[in-house]
Amino acid sequence: MSNKKNHNYLLSDLTKLKGVGNKIANLLKKKKVNTIFDLLWKLPKSYTDRSKTSNIEDLKIGEVQTVNIIPYKYNFPRVRNLPNRVLCKDDTGNLDCIFFNSYEGYIKKILPIGKKVVVSGKIGFFRNKYQITNPKYISEDSSVIKIKHNQYSLTEGITEKLYNKIIKQIIKDLPKLDEWHSKEILKNFNNISWHDSINKLHQPENVGKYKSSFYERLAFDEIFSSYLVHSEIRKKIKKIKKNKKLFDLDKQKELIKKLDFKLTKDQMKSLNEVNKDLISNQKMFRLLQGDVGSGKTIVALIASINVINSGFQVAVMAPTEILARQHYLLAKKLFKSSIRIDLLSSKSEYKDKKRILDELNENKIDLIFGTHSIFQKKVKFKNLGLIVIDEQHKFGVNQRKKLSDKGGNNCDVLLMSATPIPRTLTMTIYGDMDISIIREKPQSRKEVKTYTKLETKIDDVIKFIKKEIDMGNQVFWVCPLIEESKKIDHSSVIKKYKFLNEIFPNKVGLLHGKTDQIEKELILNNFLNKKYDILVSTTIIEVGIDFPNANIIVIENSNKFGLSQLHQLRGRVGRGHKQSTCILMFKSSLTENAKKRLRILKKTNDGFKISEEDMKIRGYGDILGFKQSGLKTFKLADPILNENLFFIAEKEIKRIENSDEDISRFRTLMKLYDQADIINDIV
Ligand code: ADP
Ligand code: MG
Repeated sequence: MSNKKNHNYLLSDLTKLKGVGNKIANLLKKKKVNTIFDLLWKLPKSYTDRSKTSNIEDLKIGEVQTVNIIPYKYNFPRVRNLPNRVLCKDDTGNLDCIFFNSYEGYIKKILPIGKKVVVSGKIGFFRNKYQITNPKYISEDSSVIKIKHNQYSLTEGITEKLYNKIIKQIIKDLPKLDEWHSKEILKNFNNISWHDSINKLHQPENVGKYKSSFYERLAFDEIFSSYLVHSEIRKKIKKIKKNKKLFDLDKQKELIKKLDFKLTKDQMKSLNEVNKDLISNQKMFRLLQGDVGSGKTIVALIASINVINSGFQVAVMAPTEILARQHYLLAKKLFKSSIRIDLLSSKSEYKDKKRILDELNENKIDLIFGTHSIFQKKVKFKNLGLIVIDEQHKFGVNQRKKLSDKGGNNCDVLLMSATPIPRTLTMTIYGDMDISIIREKPQSRKEVKTYTKLETKIDDVIKFIKKEIDMGNQVFWVCPLIEESKKIDHSSVIKKYKFLNEIFPNKVGLLHGKTDQIEKELILNNFLNKKYDILVSTTIIEVGIDFPNANIIVIENSNKFGLSQLHQLRGRVGRGHKQSTCILMFKSSLTENAKKRLRILKKTNDGFKISEEDMKIRGYGDILGFKQSGLKTFKLADPILNENLFFIAEKEIKRIENSDEDISRFRTLMKLYDQADIINDIV
């Protein structure tokens, strides 16, 4: 069958290509190039223009150049390791072509004595003579040399020549696929087709033309296909019919009245969005996103009580035991004995655990808190109606989808994340979920005051924290590394611990990456219970834990941290009513970027704004741990460079969702671009 309209060619194995056997295919597979389609995105880094020829006397040593020559003598030493040599000349001088590992027959064929030939290669100079080693693109006829030559970043074992040959072959056989975009969308890209765009993408003179129609169209294809897949997953989850949750809103009102604060507008809005999902007959799959301290917990707990009032059980999962316990205690305080609440902890005694498991299975517990342990197979719920997952941002799409399947059809899912992400990335990362955002922070909250301090002024810092400790406040002291490293100029927590312990004897706790989980929780509990005034640590304390008395955070070597990470660290204080302070210590001679980061932190406490700035400084793909989380790494699209494309894609996907348009025309797009398992049952 002809390839002309069929995308299957693009998804076929590399060995289908001429010149590619198993050996070459395996080399490429190691670089995650599995199909012909994958090869399309291996773009030339630069190209060499070999179309201009030069006289021998004008050659520039070290550069790749093309030259017209006449071979006049073969020099084939029959000694191993000595190269074969062809002496050549033009009217202006002499040049040797050197061949390693080439057969004489081949050399004679391409460089016949007395005939004009064009060769190209890197010009060397040896024993007073120009030379080219293993010359390329040898032609008998200078008019053939119109080659502008792509330089790809090569995989070991694959020559540039082969690579160019392969790509040429693919471009030649590139199928003309039916257009998947609407006319309206195509207008954004001067109506260029996918086929033509790929063609242009590989034309040497187009290297780096990121703002051209062909480039933007292809970037858009990528973005849009990922939105489509997300949208399909969301639709699929929404199609799951569940029993509506029926509850009395008066009870919610009563509870809200009893709080010692007023819910913010965003909290109310988010709660209403959640409630709307709960009372619908579609399964909820929602993300509650809000900066540290924006008050997500209370929203989740009120939603939980609504679910419980409608006769279901609720499970709340936290990333650590200590956080699970804090939530548990808060719920106990809030709901008193009106419902049955429990905590499933690894520290619980065996008989307690068994009792809890039994009671969950018998619907005797309404609200259970725990770590991921509450999703073990042996934990069986009688009537689970809502799963709340706190502080997740490291789950990828696949993990989330599994989660949503977990509780069964009647179980709604609410995820919470304190990691603000740039606006452009929201759909990329969370497009499979509905999203509620809490932007404004409680008004009672005092902004954390942020100062920068030169490391040499540590005495001032000590003086300051002494005063605060005397008032009953506590201090986090954060250092970047666990052990003194000679190479990297980071300060060590252990050294700092010793230093501070001399000034504040027996009042300093130490926590680092090598502390095991049980000990870590113990130390954190000790800090919570004010056994320590200062906690020296690396960056390992999770966000989310409330340390009501800790209102100072000192961050050493702050210039070594990313912006978002500094913001997250800062978020460990400033959750209570006290005035909190963040002191960013730094060594002298900061880089421009480091200065920029510190300036932004001083200026704003808004995590969303900070994430935008962070992305601009660091670039996409490097933002706060999303790398490990299965964040889609685009081949061309760049959320900074192509920001507008992300917005066009978002608008288009919403339009399609609302219009119930048939999406089968995007089948090829999705099959090509998203070869993930997750879509197998969609397209
Ligand atoms: P996060 O969104 O980081 O999970 P929390 O839910 O832990 O934040 O809330 C942080 C603190 O703010 C808690 O002590 C909580 O009681 C308090 N809080 C929540 N909502 C409000 C509000 N509307 N007004 C004042 N304080 C609030
Ligand atoms: Mg929280």
